[in-house]
Amino acid sequence: MNTVALIDALYQNENLSDHELLFLLENIKEEEKTYLFKKSLDKKTLHYGNTVFMRGLIEFSNYCKQDCMYCGIRRSNHKADRYRLSKESILHCCEEGYRLGYRTFVLQGGEDPYFTDERLIDIVTAIKEAFPQCAITLSIGERDAESYKRLKDAGVDRYLLRHETASKALYTKLHPHMSIDNRIECLYTLKGLGYQVGAGFMVGLPGQTLKDYVADLRFLKELSPEMVGIGPYIPHEDTPLKGHPSGKVDDAALLIAIVRLLLPKALLPATTAMGTLSPQGRERALRAGANVVMPNLSPLNVREKYALYQDKICTGDEAAHCRACIEGRIKKAGFTADMSRGDHKNHQAYPETCISNKTLFKTL
Ligand code: SAH
Repeated sequence: MNTVALIDALYQNENLSDHELLFLLENIKEEEKTYLFKKSLDKKTLHYGNTVFMRGLIEFSNYCKQDCMYCGIRRSNHKADRYRLSKESILHCCEEGYRLGYRTFVLQGGEDPYFTDERLIDIVTAIKEAFPQCAITLSIGERDAESYKRLKDAGVDRYLLRHETASKALYTKLHPHMSIDNRIECLYTLKGLGYQVGAGFMVGLPGQTLKDYVADLRFLKELSPEMVGIGPYIPHEDTPLKGHPSGKVDDAALLIAIVRLLLPKALLPATTAMGTLSPQGRERALRAGANVVMPNLSPLNVREKYALYQDKICTGDEAAHCRACIEGRIKKAGFTADMSRGDHKNHQAYPETCISNKTLFKTL
């Protein structure tokens, strides 16, 4: 096997076997990475031109009932200073975002039982009433199918739920009392309900191997989500994984490029974690084929409290500053910021292939 030929085949066929993906990850050399990034950027340009979509991120609660080993807002972190935003405060963030030009709001939080379906539906309804042309994305973890359905009916357009890692052994180690099977079930349920769905994984988790990435790539190809969030793992000092080294921006960029070629029309964010580990991390992601950024709209007084990992960037910047800063970075990197809703190119409610893939997918 030859890595350049594999990159060409991946570009052409939008797929490789597991064996080929592993070979590529194990053997790709620096100059071949440059070639891969060129091909992935070409593919992105083919479908989305020069644009990078901007989404306004509102981190509305850091209460969480889960205990993910890597996450700074896990429930066992008693040092976390907990907060939740009121409906008025969330609406205020949306108003400010709307004034700044955003037409998509991403509401993210821990799994906070305070936010019952009723409370969320009330908030979503109010946002949709005020800004009917805006897309709403939720990212609040695992809920039951009935809840996802009620939220969809209330007007939620998209749902981000990273699968975190598709390797069963690693997932089990990192997520006490949770299961990869349930996470995957949630993702297929969301797809079935017609959401634009975001999955994704962390890179450089303690114990993660190249084979684990192959499992992630295969899972993504089969689920075929509209969005894929990929970012390096970064330690947080008040978690059991403190002291484990961060993932590498380089490795995350490589995986973003491969995902761009596997799912050419996917919406791929240049994540804050990339920017946290390297001053040019988000630009690296954009050049590897990412096409979304999510500047922060959360109120300044809670920014530092939404600390999933240490040294998170942009915690002190006003929403207007974040917008201008990121737009400047996008331009400097040679792209154009797009403030529209930024829907997936051909979002289908539930493609047939997706249903059959569900039975095909076996966790490792
Ligand atoms: N409760 C929601 C949102 C989780 S926070 C959910 O379950 O989906 C959003 C993402 O941040 C997570 O999915 C995870 O991939 C990432 N994250 C959490 N802790 C991290 C860390 N220490 N380093 C890097 N990314 C982290």
